[in-house]
Amino acid sequence: MNDTLTCGHDFSPSNYRLQGAVHQCYACHRERMEARRAKNRERDDAIVADHRAGVSKDVLAKTHRLCLNRIYNIIRANTPKQNRLTSDPLFPERAMQRAAELSNTRVEELKSHWREKHLVKARWCVMAAMHERGVGYKSIGRRLGGRDHTTIIYGVRQAGIFSERSPEFRAMLDQVRAA
Ligand SMILES: [Zn+2]
Repeated sequence: MNDTLTCGHDFSPSNYRLQGAVHQCYACHRERMEARRAKNRERDDAIVADHRAGVSKDVLAKTHRLCLNRIYNIIRANTPKQNRLTSDPLFPERAMQRAAELSNTRVEELKSHWREKHLVKARWCVMAAMHERGVGYKSIGRRLGGRDHTTIIYGVRQAGIFSERSPEFRAMLDQVRAA
């Protein structure tokens, strides 16, 4: 029996096994995983660079065939924490103010627990915009009238879904982002 596999890797129990009818070489597996990680890193770097250059997340999602949430996460994961909100500590207040104006209501109502549609959607915009600026889920919840972080996670997700479905919602979200 040869001591190398046809791929050139070590034919030993620590590297090779036959599982059912499937030949498994761990060295090949590691190489594939490493290649995939490198490719993803390259893609993520490109997404972050384009995002900083002003390409919208919707366009990035379409170009890379990823959902909007993945795009948010990639950008967020590659944005240094200290540069997020510390550079603009008043953003949350402005975002809430803008969202309130756009939905003909007041900030206190956004912070309230009323469930009218226009309030719910305005809150989702605020949640998503703060989240993009790196405000933590718990902190967003505190600022929005003491909501639970799971509510914020849900709201951010809803904002992603609705901004794909509804141009009006997306327009509102964009204005809150730019507050
Ligand atoms: Zn191999």
